Amino acid sequence: MKFAIIGAGVAGSYLGNMLYNNGHEITIFEAFKKENHWPVCAWGASKHMLEHFSQKAGLEFNQYIHHVGKRLRMELPNNKEEFLQLHGLVTYDKKQWEADLLKDINIKFGSVCKLETFPAGKYDYVLDCTGFHRALLPRTKSDFIIPAYEYLVENIQDISEFYVIGYKGARGYFWYFPLSNGRGFVGAGDIDKKYYGIKEFFKRYPNAKIIKKIGRPIRLSPPKLMEPFYNNNIIGIGESIGTVFPMLGEGIIPSLLCCEIFLKVIEETKDNADKFDKELYRKNVLEKFGYYYDVYKIIRLKMDGKLNTVKHFNLLFSMYRNMKKEEKRFGFEISFDKMRRLVNAL
Ligand SMILES: Cc1cc2nc3c(=O)[nH]c(=O)nc-3n(C[C@H](O)[C@H](O)[C@H](O)COP(=O)(O)OP(=O)(O)OC[C@H]3O[C@@H](n4cnc5c(N)ncnc54)[C@H](O)[C@@H]3O)c2cc1C
Repeated sequence: MKFAIIGAGVAGSYLGNMLYNNGHEITIFEAFKKENHWPVCAWGASKHMLEHFSQKAGLEFNQYIHHVGKRLRMELPNNKEEFLQLHGLVTYDKKQWEADLLKDINIKFGSVCKLETFPAGKYDYVLDCTGFHRALLPRTKSDFIIPAYEYLVENIQDISEFYVIGYKGARGYFWYFPLSNGRGFVGAGDIDKKYYGIKEFFKRYPNAKIIKKIGRPIRLSPPKLMEPFYNNNIIGIGESIGTVFPMLGEGIIPSLLCCEIFLKVIEETKDNADKFDKELYRKNVLEKFGYYYDVYKIIRLKMDGKLNTVKHFNLLFSMYRNMKKEEKRFGFEISFDKMRRLVNAL
């Protein structure tokens, strides 16, 4: 089949690789020029899952790992502190990983695609992998995004663990994600745009040298609130349709899981474009990411100061049960007690 993939982020790169290697004709359009293209992200995700996707795409994931986390330190309001044991959370060279996925594929860099002008009729399907931008699909009323930015820094000698500061009311958090050789990402997502922790970090580490400042908002509204997923022959995949875990603003693995759902439905078409079952894709995405809606409700209630751990026990338990089922996919320990303590502390 003939595909246009719009956006060479995590979803676009993985789909590009998989569709190309399955004999489809693909063209990739990326808004940034090649020299400025950078995956805006703190590059943290579960090693187990990235090994799985790398293997499918013919890459050896170990080559890309920067830092293997042992524990994550969390500073919480009122001088509280919590630690999470990490079971596979790593940082990795996301830029190189995505570049290697597409190494045999021609990418049209510097192409900012728009619905009004894109020649969608030239393709069997156009895949909107533009992430937060959702450039080719209609806007939705319930979109909810959190502003975020980060610095890539170097010359950091004495923190070698994942470190976050949770903001009161779960209105965002600060992060330090270590890479290798004294490099790391310092950043924050914050509904109130105060980004507490960033200035403080640079005061505490005066030798930290900024290499790059990057940012864009992160979509927190889950797939249930991001319909439609398709419009004629345009199909949304990844963050463009809300596959971000709302509690953490974590979207690498969810976007790849969304690609996996899409690829499975494509496989069923037996190369007949008319047979692609958009409704099945829609249904499977809604099912896979169904509990993200509960997680989203928890976050919104907390942000509005309305979350009550007794009254909303069912929501909290749904989040716990579903996360526990997929503990490896997250790469950190999932404990109900810690979860409840955290929700209360924030
Ligand atoms: C500061 C920050 C830190 C984050 N850290 C993490 C983290 O550590 N771990 C994690 O799991 N998630 C993290 N996330 C979220 C995660 O990066 C995203 O959810 C994930 O990358 C989404 O993948 P995607 O392929 O759907 O979209 P993206 O990776 O965002 O890719 C979209 C691509 O489309 C291109 N594009 C956009 N509009 C157009 C257009 N009109 N025409 C052509 N191309 C276009 C963009 O340039 C981009 O290359 C972070 C997000 C931010 C903002």
